[in-house]
Amino acid sequence: MKLSLVVPCYNEEQNVALFYRAATNVFDAEGYDYELVFVNDGSADNTLGELKKLHAESEHNIRIISFSRNFGKEAAMYAGIEHAKGELVCLIDADLQQRPEVVAYMVKRLDEVPELDCVAAYQHERRESGTLSFFKKSFYNLINSVSDTKFVQGASDFRTFRRSVAESVLSMGEYHRFSKGILSWVGFNTEYIPYDVQDRVAGESKWSFKKLFKYAIDGIIAFSTAPLAIPLVLGIALCAFSVIYLLATLFWCAVSYYTTFTIGLLLVFLVMLIGGLQLLGIGIVGKYIAKIYEQSKNRPIYIAKEIIEPKNEE
Ligand code: UDP
Ligand code: MG
Repeated sequence: MKLSLVVPCYNEEQNVALFYRAATNVFDAEGYDYELVFVNDGSADNTLGELKKLHAESEHNIRIISFSRNFGKEAAMYAGIEHAKGELVCLIDADLQQRPEVVAYMVKRLDEVPELDCVAAYQHERRESGTLSFFKKSFYNLINSVSDTKFVQGASDFRTFRRSVAESVLSMGEYHRFSKGILSWVGFNTEYIPYDVQDRVAGESKWSFKKLFKYAIDGIIAFSTAPLAIPLVLGIALCAFSVIYLLATLFWCAVSYYTTFTIGLLLVFLVMLIGGLQLLGIGIVGKYIAKIYEQSKNRPIYIAKEIIEPKNEE
């Protein structure tokens, strides 16, 4: 099978049939073998009923994975990739904000350029409020400054990749998933193409500002242990400052006729020094916790794209 479309669906009863029609129109015309992998993420509406109807009526390859409750889009994408059979896997939303025509173009690029492993779409123009846009931009700047993994501004989960990439994504078994980071972490050659986000066909976005904020924090924590190093930096700074304070006070007492070195001035120094040493201690513990945290995710130590064996072993 050439292509699997992985479609996470949460309360999309009005959209799944429309999505199905739009997708089949495009891919039937392309003429290749494909399947639609719908993941019903514990919808409270009749999404599952609509999907079963499509499954019963349609000649197309439709696979449905229905969750026991709402596990979130990340879990839905993971399940979809796990069950996808295609040589190429595409992550796409059910609300037609991302057009299947763009997927056909992604597939074309992957066919044309064998060295490419992934074609990802990024939002050409953000169609959202200035405030939200500002927060999203700030998030990308922040995460890029604290993480070794690179995050492309505006890049979404909307992308098509080869089986090798899909297998690598599945090999990252971490529970708190942040796909934008995972897809960047696994490496491979990725081409970014601009796309215009469409309006939602029906229903409304499941992402409130609060949910987005929590997701952003999850992303930073999943791909950076920099926050754990904050006490270490503050501790070093405070210890250094306390010593500067002591030297400056002693100097001032020596040169000034009116100031004497009192117990009060000494206490200020001691409070700063002890505070600094405590922060330093917490920071050192933080460094070890960071290592344990990284290890506990059990990420692969490396991902090989290709292994070429010696000629005489072939
Ligand atoms: N979605 C999901 N589980 C959730 C939230 C969303 O599977 O808990 C799906 C949703 O049905 C849609 C996609 O993820 O297909 C993107 O969601 P949405 O359109 O709400 O996000 P936005 O486009 O506003 O970023
Ligand atoms: Mg949407």
